Amino acid sequence: MMQIEKAIARYLKNSGHPYMHLKAVLFDMDGVLFDSMPYHADAWVTSMEKYGLPMTREIAFMNEGRTGMNTINMIYHQVHGKDASKELIDEIYQDKCNEFAKHPDPERMPGALELLTKLKAMGITPVLVTGSGQHTLFARFDRDYPGMFEHDKMVTAYDVKYGKPNPEPYLMGLKKAGVAPNEAIVVENAPIGIEAGRAAGVFTIAVNTGPLKDSVLLDAGANLLFSSMQALCDNWEILIQKFERHV
Ligand code: CA
Repeated sequence: MMQIEKAIARYLKNSGHPYMHLKAVLFDMDGVLFDSMPYHADAWVTSMEKYGLPMTREIAFMNEGRTGMNTINMIYHQVHGKDASKELIDEIYQDKCNEFAKHPDPERMPGALELLTKLKAMGITPVLVTGSGQHTLFARFDRDYPGMFEHDKMVTAYDVKYGKPNPEPYLMGLKKAGVAPNEAIVVENAPIGIEAGRAAGVFTIAVNTGPLKDSVLLDAGANLLFSSMQALCDNWEILIQKFERHV
């Protein structure tokens, strides 16, 4: 577990914080709390193809975490050399949501509920920080993670202007939790989300739940990497002990 100590020491040195004291954990949603990314990737490929916009599953995973609007406009710009109209973006995003909805409801990511239960028992506040704007989001959390997330401690597509990789969503998450960057950690599975977490000055843990190489997530700036949410959950007690030792 030397790796954890080194990662914390490096974070403190680079950020200039004298210590870490964990009060909140900022969770990304897709690919972290829900095993939904394969469905999202499928939906992106199917929808974008209808509009003549080239998208692969790999592009979907590499750009995971951007708002739908930013993703559509990015690809549109590559093809047409100009921005897509708001109407077209809305139409494509609606279609993508419809395609996503054809899949079964995504399952909870294994280990996620167990980890949240541990956090709650320790008095640590879980905060959701997602670029998603699904209308069913709150209902889904009430059903699959009952009592874990307070609605006023959720950052969604409706709260932000820029979205990841801008630090804005995670800065807003810190604000909603009422904590400083050295009093939180970010849990992310996507390169762009990791960039956002780091840019917000927060210790960022990558969980590699998808097809990307570990190096992609580490190069994006992850302070620490686990192979799954279950692995993060299983190592939680060790991790928290190492954090508190630096107080
Ligand atoms: Ca994600």
